[in-house]
This record gives sequence, C-alpha cells and structure tokens, in this order.
Amino acid sequence: MGYRLLTMILSPSFSRPHRLSRSMRQPILLLSLVMVSLPSSSVALPKRLILGVDGVAYRDMKALQAGVTYEDAHGFQFHRQAFTNGYFPVSRNVSTFPSTSDVAWTEILGDRPLPGYQRTYFCEALNSTIVINGVTTSMEHERQMDWEVENGFLRSMGYVFPVHMFQYEAHELVENFLNTKSQADNYYAYIRSTDDAQHLSRDILAMLCALDGKLNELRARYKAIEGRDLEILILSDHGNNHAGPGKRIQVRGFLKKAGYRITKSLGNPKDIVLPTTGIESWVEIHNSPAETEPLLERLRHLKGVDVLTARAPGQVNRFIVMNSEGERANIDWNSNRNSFRYTMETGDPIQYRPVVEALARKSQLDPEGFATADAWMAETLAHRYPVALERIVRGLTRVTLNPATILISLNNKYVHCGWLVKRGSELVTIGGTHGGLDDLNSDGILLSNFEPTKDTSATRVAALFDGFPGLRDYRTVESGAEWISGSEQALTRIARAPIDRYSRMLPGNELFLRVWTPRFGQPGVEGAVDVTIAKARKFSDGLISLGNPRPKGAAERHLTLDLPISLPDNWSDERVYPLPSDLILEPEKEYWISGRIRDREKDTRIFDFAFRTDSRGLPVAY
Ligand SMILES: [Zn+2]
Repeated sequence: MGYRLLTMILSPSFSRPHRLSRSMRQPILLLSLVMVSLPSSSVALPKRLILGVDGVAYRDMKALQAGVTYEDAHGFQFHRQAFTNGYFPVSRNVSTFPSTSDVAWTEILGDRPLPGYQRTYFCEALNSTIVINGVTTSMEHERQMDWEVENGFLRSMGYVFPVHMFQYEAHELVENFLNTKSQADNYYAYIRSTDDAQHLSRDILAMLCALDGKLNELRARYKAIEGRDLEILILSDHGNNHAGPGKRIQVRGFLKKAGYRITKSLGNPKDIVLPTTGIESWVEIHNSPAETEPLLERLRHLKGVDVLTARAPGQVNRFIVMNSEGERANIDWNSNRNSFRYTMETGDPIQYRPVVEALARKSQLDPEGFATADAWMAETLAHRYPVALERIVRGLTRVTLNPATILISLNNKYVHCGWLVKRGSELVTIGGTHGGLDDLNSDGILLSNFEPTKDTSATRVAALFDGFPGLRDYRTVESGAEWISGSEQALTRIARAPIDRYSRMLPGNELFLRVWTPRFGQPGVEGAVDVTIAKARKFSDGLISLGNPRPKGAAERHLTLDLPISLPDNWSDERVYPLPSDLILEPEKEYWISGRIRDREKDTRIFDFAFRTDSRGLPVAY
C-alpha cells in the first residue's frame, strides 16, 4: 500500500502538467528551455522568488551556512554546508506566540486574524468548539500563494512520506515558477513538508541541502532565460525544538482532579475548553475570567509547564506572566503607543530583569517604565524568550479573533496532545515540535541573496519588503462569500483589498455579506445577487464541524441583494451587502446559504457555505 501511494506521488501523471521531462540532460534542458521560452519572451519572469519554508529553525540554517558535522538518527556521520552561494548570513524571524503555523504566517503576511490559533477552536460568539478540516481546508495565507500544494490527498501524504513530499514540492515549485503567467515582480511559494519532516524526525539539514541544490538549478535556468540573477528571499514561520517525542502533559487529569470540567462550551464557572490538535509545546485554555487566578496558581504545579501567561481578569491591557517556580510579573500594554512595561511582583519569571536594566541605562524607559515595542525587541532578539512581552500580549489579544484566557508554554521535554495522537505517534519517530515561547520554538529564518537582512519578527518582516506586494488576490479570480464585521476586518494589518482600506467606515459590530466574483465586472451581468438560505441540520452537542451540509428539505428563504454599500474606490470584483433587515433566523441553528447571479443566458451559483447563528439569531462571522 505504502509503495503504491509513493508511486502515485512521484509519477508525473499525478503532478501538474509541466513541459520538461526530468530525465533530460542539463545542456538539452537549458537549450529546450530557451526554445520553450521564446514565444513568450516578451513576458519576463518575476524578479523575485519569495519562498516560505514551514518550520525551518534559525539555528539549523545558521549551522548549515557555517558548515556542520553531525550524526543522524542512525549514527551515520555527515558534513553539510549550504546556502553559501551568494546568500547573505541568515537572520532571525521571531515567530508569534504561540509559535504555530497559521497564526505566524497570518502575522507575517499581515492578513486579517484567523478565527482560532488552530483549526479546532473555541468560538466565543457561539460558545462552542468548531472544527475545520486542517488537511484539506486552505487558510487565507495559503490561498495567497502563487504556488503551494493544494491537493488534500497529497497534503495528507506529507505526514506519511515527508521526504518524498519535499522532493515533489521542490521540483514542482521550480517548474511552476518557470512556467508562471504572473506578471508581478514577486512570486510567492510555500513548502510545508519541511515542518512535517521535522515532526517526524527526518534530517532537515539534508533536506535543506537538497533545496539549495534545486534553487541553484533554478537560478542557472533563470539566468539563461532572463540574463539576470533571480532574487530569492526565504523565510520561515517558527523553529523546532528538536527535543524528541516528549512526555505528554497530564493537563486534563490534572484539571479534573482540581474540580474542573473539560468541555466544549463555557456554562458553569468550572468549565474549561481546551482545543487540542496535533502534538505541540503549548496549550490554550478558555475559562471563566473569575477562575484565571486560581487556575494559574494550580497550573504552575502541572508537570511540564515552563511559562504561564494570561489576560489579567477585569483589566483590558494588563497581562500576567508566571513560571513553574511561582515567580510572577505583570505586563502592561499601552496600545496607542504600542509600548510595554514589565513589572516584577515575585522574582523574575522570564529573566527580563537584565533587559529592563539595559533599557533603563539607555534611557529608553519613560517615567512610567514603558519602552516601545521596537526597543524591547532590539534588546531581546537573542534572549531565551525573544520579544516576549509583545508576543504574549498579541498572543492573548490580536493574533486570533478568539484569543485564549490562558496560554501555556511548555518545557521542551513535554508535549501537549490528545492521547490517541500520542499513541499513534509512538508508531513513528517524533523529532520535535514547536508552539512554545522560547528561542528554539520561536526563531524562524529570513535569508536573502539580494540584500543583507537583520533580525526581525513575524509582525515586522513585511515592512522590510514593502508589505509583500503582489500576493495572489484569489478574490479577483475565484467566486465566494463570507460574513464580515467592521471590527474584525479592521484587524487586517496590511490593507490589500478595498474593504481593508475602508473597514473603519463599516459600523463595528454590524454584519455584512462580502461577495466576490470576477463575473461582477462582466458585461450583461445583472447587479443583483439571488440568495437562498435554508436550515442545514440540528445543532449538536457543541462540537461543530465546518463542513458543507446540504439542507434537508427544510423551508428555503429567498432574498435579492441589490444594494451594496458604496466605498470610495474602483471596486469591480467585490461587493459588500448589509444584512437584510427582514432576515430573521432562529437562534443557535446551523444554516446553509448560497448565492447566484444572472447574465443574459443563465444564472450561475457563485457561493455556497454553512454558517451558524448566535443566541439572538444573527449569523456568526467568526
Ligand atoms: Zn509552521
């Protein structure tokens, strides 16, 4: 079975069509490429390749550039060196906290925050836990790539055969780049198997050497076609602790013993929601604010805890940081100035006293003891807990639309996962994970062959590259729709669509239906969108799956949306409609909505998705 799957992955018929066979020898390859490129030679290839490599750690790339001799898992000795051919020394790209893929890439690209840290998340508006299929569902940051593996089957294979998946991804990346029709200066691509491979203890240094070789081949072919050097920027979203399988923390049993109930929604003060996916070195806890203090006091005794962070109950911009020794400090955030203060109450939980002293010496603390986010960053880039204050605060407020009340960073000898996952993982070799606050988990990479880079963070890296212009705008080439609110949309850090620029004109908490289709601009297409809404299926026990349920013979409602709000921008592909005032839905139900537009000949369905209503019967946007 395994062999057959492997053959399927590697067989050319399974990959996207590309013009050249891999079996050709180099000179023929170059010659034929020149010929293939002749008809379209008026269209230049993109100037720059911006390549996201998931989970590549700063320390690994640094070692590889310097040259490293090491033994692999089987005791064989290797010497490897790579990314020396025209690349500048690698810099740190410090992740978000938690240092996990979805939140970190969303931060790096400046996108609107996602509903949850993970694809299983607690939705506050619904008071319910939601599950999105993490393997087959694409997040905004993935859809913005010019190239990534979109196929759900292939993606799931990345967990089974990460090295083969990596070879496939690297090969496809090169071929797709050389055959792109994109006229933009930047070409964006994303490789995920580098992260899968490290979770499964594969040799990341060997994989990076192979990537370097593949990129050298691309650079040579590019130069032959374009007569100039290809600019390459490689960045990653977090590191990897390389700490082996780890012991599973007993957080569920521990909390149950303390009288709490692990559940999918919060009703009773002792209820706790604990969304868990995969094997991670962090934990998110959603609890009643009144329980935050007693929970912190208990959780510091949980074996495997390194640092505990929490929103201070009843205080908007104060956060608590504790360690397992019971040392405790407060973080205060001035959100207008984006400045932070670290106040030690008992001990120094994250060893920031020397940082405070250094900032004081450099006169960077104001009379209240606050320093700017940039000043804290400059002082802590090489710290064991890099850029911690800002990352903790953003982690508990901004990196997701449904932030946790408590975020725990684990000691690297421990992991958090469901017991089934842990049992399954015992069948394979686990190499390590990420998610925690420390440098091993958090320090990703920034590597360039066209300009020297400096250490930075996920929140700042876009600003060093003009905000990553030219990301694929899938809403101009696909059709779809979503519920949005002004307050949610205003959290988008880098405005790309007109709605991002004018979101502050939308009343904060009102709901709108955002609809996009290239057909809006086409002649003969009528402006109105015909909408059908039907009840989907019974709201179950609180665990909701974001599938695509069909209505079960339920009564359908029909509406015509023909009055989009007008925004002061030329806006042909997208429209935003207010929620019709006569739309009355039942509370806490799951609905299905679809929309069609008409042209002279036919009407075409342009969107189709499931949503749920809150206790007032209003659709929930996130
Ligand atoms: Zn990642």
